[in-house]
Amino acid sequence: MTVLVVAEHDRGALAPATLEACAFARSLGEPVHAITIGAAADGLVATLAEYGVSVVVQAHHDLLADYGPEAWGETVAQLVRQYQPTAVLATGTDRGNEVMAQVAARLGLPMVANVTAVTPGEPWTITRVRWGGSLLEECTLAAGTKLLTIAHHSLEASPAPVDATTEAMAPDLGAELARTMVVERVERAAGVTLATAALVVGGGRGVGSAEGFTPLEELASALGGVVGCSRAVTNNGWRNHTDQVGQTGTRIAPDLYIACGISGAIQHWVGAMASKTILAINTDKDANMVTKADVAVIGDLHQVVPAITAEVRRRRGA
Ligand SMILES: Cc1cc2nc3c(=O)[nH]c(=O)nc-3n(C[C@H](O)[C@H](O)[C@H](O)COP(=O)(O)OP(=O)(O)OC[C@H]3O[C@@H](n4cnc5c(N)ncnc54)[C@H](O)[C@@H]3O)c2cc1C
Repeated sequence: MTVLVVAEHDRGALAPATLEACAFARSLGEPVHAITIGAAADGLVATLAEYGVSVVVQAHHDLLADYGPEAWGETVAQLVRQYQPTAVLATGTDRGNEVMAQVAARLGLPMVANVTAVTPGEPWTITRVRWGGSLLEECTLAAGTKLLTIAHHSLEASPAPVDATTEAMAPDLGAELARTMVVERVERAAGVTLATAALVVGGGRGVGSAEGFTPLEELASALGGVVGCSRAVTNNGWRNHTDQVGQTGTRIAPDLYIACGISGAIQHWVGAMASKTILAINTDKDANMVTKADVAVIGDLHQVVPAITAEVRRRRGA
């Protein structure tokens, strides 16, 4: 029996989470095989071998020229029917979870997402991440082939080189599987993004309006950071969803997060908790964000934020 890893890639660029899935697969004690989807991924064999994959199945078809969850899911499902592996592991990313949901639906099998640990047996006992990382849940999985996605960053992607062979696969795919396909990529913004910024100035309902974000933009600009927000803000249409921090937004991990007028609800906190230092500015000394912050200013953000900006500019002589 084997464990099959679905290699996530974008036009041949391997998602680092795939290597974590390979390391996880090795820990299950069976030979690790992988499937790469589309000719663009043919160059990944050496990297996968470096991480313990002994057989790489290379699936080729015109419909696999770019990412499409239905075509990818059907391709993996066809290989699973043929291979009958013990388990199929994919990345616990948007794409990995999307593809495995397709695989599970097509095979009529259960699937467990965002797994951090497995104890094989009958059934398997599995620990998985829920609620954006704030809860670890234990569950059991009984199925002929176990379908899992591995929570990103749940283990180190350590190398374990082996010699790999390749096998060609020509899946039978109909045009109806091309309903959802990547056809274009638009770069949203050059430079620093919310996910990678070293400094984020976040605004919540306390900011009061779209225009109220101007002083936050000024502070972020003075400190070389970017502006984020809570869902109350996006719900009000004050800012775009791309700026939202949290469970249903972006996970941030800056050196400093300045949270202005944000109460710190759990769904916001899970997106902000990786920040190294948090400064909360809030009128409510008992707000969750204030009690969890490293430093807090209890006061009206409309006065505090411009005062900080003015002081930063004064010290920098700007
Ligand atoms: C399934 C689900 C997913 C969700 N996902 C997310 C998510 O990804 N991100 C997210 O943020 N939320 C998310 N939420 C919503 C979340 O539960 C909260 O409703 C939201 O985070 C609250 O936003 P807020 O802190 O801006 O507003 P509030 O909770 O209303 O807090 C406003 C804060 O501003 C303070 N304040 C008011 N005026 C001032 C002032 N002048 N100066 C200083 N402080 C002031 C108040 O004291 C208060 O603490 C989700 C909810 C659900 C159910």
